[in-house]
Amino acid sequence: MADTTSRLTSLKARITKLADMAGSDREGEARGLAAELSSELDRLMAETPAPSGGEPDRQRPPPKAPRDDVERCPVCSLRSFHFQKGSIRESADGGFEAFYRCGSCAHEGWREIP
Ligand SMILES: [Zn+2]
Repeated sequence: MADTTSRLTSLKARITKLADMAGSDREGEARGLAAELSSELDRLMAETPAPSGGEPDRQRPPPKAPRDDVERCPVCSLRSFHFQKGSIRESADGGFEAFYRCGSCAHEGWREIP
């Protein structure tokens, strides 16, 4: 984002210049600069990705769904321990884990995604 920062600094400098022009007789020049700043801000906004829900800006792969969405239940030992879609969260060791719920005995628990 170094490029964006330098462009924003440059924009800020020109806005200050624009403010200096206000009240003077350089109206045409001020209008031209305002239009230039406006289009540059439009470009910057188009390039800046939308915030992703307050997630920390870290380089890491997105969570992936577990390979098996049905596992053997640790309580009733039936193969009815179902992955609950959309339940993936970060685990304490930096990996990801998914929430499972047993369709037979209703046991619930988190499973590490390999
Ligand atoms: Zn069960």
